[in-house]
Amino acid sequence: MIYTSNQEKIAQKLDKGSEISSWKDWKWQLKHLVRTVEQFENLTGIKFDEEEKHGLEETFSKFPLSITPYYLSLINKKNYRNDPVFKQAFGSVHELQTDASELSDPLSEDQDSPVEGITHRYPDRVLFHVSNICAMYCRHCTRKRKVGDVDYVPSKDQLRKGIEYIKNTPQVRDVLLSGGDPFMLPDSMIDWLLSEIQAIPHVEVIRIGTRVPVVLPYRITDDLIAILKKYQPLWINTHFNHPRELSASASEAITMLADAGFPLGNQSVLLADVNDCPRIMKSLVHKLVKNRIRPYYLYQCDLSEGLAHFRTPIGKGIEIMESLIGHTSGFARPTYVIDAPGGGGKIPVMPNYIISWSTNKVVLRNYEGVITTYKEPDSYERRMCDRNCNNCDLELDLREADESDSIGIEKLLSDSYDNISLVPEDNERLLRRNEEEDEEKGA
Ligand SMILES: *Cc1c(COP(=O)(O)O)cnc(C)c1O
Repeated sequence: MIYTSNQEKIAQKLDKGSEISSWKDWKWQLKHLVRTVEQFENLTGIKFDEEEKHGLEETFSKFPLSITPYYLSLINKKNYRNDPVFKQAFGSVHELQTDASELSDPLSEDQDSPVEGITHRYPDRVLFHVSNICAMYCRHCTRKRKVGDVDYVPSKDQLRKGIEYIKNTPQVRDVLLSGGDPFMLPDSMIDWLLSEIQAIPHVEVIRIGTRVPVVLPYRITDDLIAILKKYQPLWINTHFNHPRELSASASEAITMLADAGFPLGNQSVLLADVNDCPRIMKSLVHKLVKNRIRPYYLYQCDLSEGLAHFRTPIGKGIEIMESLIGHTSGFARPTYVIDAPGGGGKIPVMPNYIISWSTNKVVLRNYEGVITTYKEPDSYERRMCDRNCNNCDLELDLREADESDSIGIEKLLSDSYDNISLVPEDNERLLRRNEEEDEEKGA
């Protein structure tokens, strides 16, 4: 644990006479959250002029401010306007400039919610919002609509609604705990919640999405680890966006989680002027894998209100992926995804590697620009499979997973489904056809 002189100065201003043990106490950190412009100025020595201060206060009355003293201590005061830590933590007047394409709930999480706290979007997994508290309010939060709603720890009764839903929905094999931040719950609550979910026979894995290792690494305590260890297989996804966030304290927290055996992933958001650069991203993913964290997703910034100044064109993400694929370890590259507005879910996007295709040959290019061909088999007969999935005599033991359950493109690809296309419900061309048919009938 490194206690820098800067951290010590901040700690003394917040709590005179406090020692390093206070700084390292996550509850002390939460007691001293930085929530106003004055506090921020006082602790960092950064000063804003009256006009800017006025604008900032207006911004924070709509989208509140909350920074942990730890995360604040990472700000590079000398060059704060260009500092990725400052930009993610402190916010700017640009948040009030909304764009016509923005939506308060761009992912329709509230609409895809069968019961309070659950978003059920994909066939076999659910998102369970188990807390609405965050240690820090990230300025780029996709759930910005909810930031600053009264912080409360949900009661067991509230959480039971979600647990009941999972119990009654046997196709759910993967439960993703999110929030807010699940690690903002008290240890006893985390223990109870995990034990309830793990007791559901059809739940195979639990995942926790948390930004605590980034903004409040001291929350990862031996006590917390001891609780989590009871609930393997437990996957943990963190949210580092910039190499500077991988401080000594963050690394220590990550080491504790990795040593305890949890598979660790990282979800980054592509943010203008924070990490929209192939060199920054390459450095980030290298630092992540050195810390035993596997880059999982790189998100295109959502269309949430107040995030216009953070958004980049999709081309920037593709450029970053182009710089990673082939150029560095396969396990160091995330999947770049766009979370479809309206609740379509995450859509992966990549540079194109297939240049052309005939019935027996594919033309591809590699990361260096080499163009190559792959010769496909002249005939492809499935000897193992007679395409009769419902009467399959290979003892595959697939249980419920029969072919008729497939959806989307998977369904189009299957042989036991006759339709040749998937068409949106309100497709104008088809609506017109129906109208014409009705007219003919009427005539
Ligand atoms: C992201 C997300 C998941 C998990 O998706 P994976 O691709 O399996 O990581 C599940 N539910 C919702 C609503 C999500 O947004």
